[in-house]
Amino acid sequence: MEKKFNNPLQTLDGSDRAFVEAKKLSTIWFNTGTLCNIACKNCYIESSPTNDRLSYLSFAEVKQFIDEAIEKKLGTHEIGFTGGEPFMNKEVLTMIDYSLSKGFKTLVLTNAMKPMLNRKEALLKINHPNLTIRVSIDHYEKEKHEKIRGQNTYDVMMQGLQWLNKNQFNYALATRLLWDEDEDHVRKNFNNFIKANHLQLDAYSKKQLVTFAEMDEKQDTPEITTACWKILNKNPDEIMCSSSRMIVKKKNNVKPSVIACTLLPYDQSFDLGDSLAGSLKKIYLNHPHCSKFCVLGGSSCS
Ligand code: SF4
Ligand code: SF4
Repeated sequence: MEKKFNNPLQTLDGSDRAFVEAKKLSTIWFNTGTLCNIACKNCYIESSPTNDRLSYLSFAEVKQFIDEAIEKKLGTHEIGFTGGEPFMNKEVLTMIDYSLSKGFKTLVLTNAMKPMLNRKEALLKINHPNLTIRVSIDHYEKEKHEKIRGQNTYDVMMQGLQWLNKNQFNYALATRLLWDEDEDHVRKNFNNFIKANHLQLDAYSKKQLVTFAEMDEKQDTPEITTACWKILNKNPDEIMCSSSRMIVKKKNNVKPSVIACTLLPYDQSFDLGDSLAGSLKKIYLNHPHCSKFCVLGGSSCS
């Protein structure tokens, strides 16, 4: 029996599948490698101390894509580094520094634990107004944070956060909406947490405290047709893959690949080749994540 999300061009009922077209790439993400010092429950990219499905990117590889974005005027203004834990990549500071030297807003996602703390001196040297370090904190309470992130993950993360605060870094927090807490409640409690810890953050700013809805991957989701945009009053230009890409290096591959978005690092059909300019093509929304996370859930990873 035919299944949903099978034919790239058509949905199961024969309708035209929705697609997204990128005209510029405002944000380019680099997945510096999937290895992480911890293994959180529901890590969307399944990172852990042993998952090396995405290898470490080298500085030379990152530079090549940044240079391409500049030379081909792809409209890029922001470079993001994600993982895994980016500070486990030996060359990440050179990558960050290069991105800053080219005038890009530069965002680094981290768990602010030992891999970051081990590189304090080098990080201090490259601090810049265009650099933002975004720290993942799954809950403002230690017990709940550690339910997701594992034992002994909270205090060291707090050390990292306090260090960023004390040393005048631009930083932000990212959290997940868990345990049926609504967004207002989460922001109110983060406001108390921020005050109690003397952090320089605004819990009511969507940039300074980013929240991600928890999605059930197993739940069934409809396919998105070209007619859905009008029905849902959505614009394809609001979808992440209309303005960003992620560079990854798959294990055993010689060259890095350009992937449609940060959500589908392992799906070969969303691998758009080895150049950013070549990746500016139609992306057919032929994956449950496209429907669940992007079109219906409205959630994106950036
Ligand atoms: S710290 Fe981030 S990358 Fe590492 S396992 Fe947790 S969610 Fe995944
Ligand atoms: S999951 Fe990725 S490819 Fe699919 S719609 Fe979302 S951003 Fe685009």
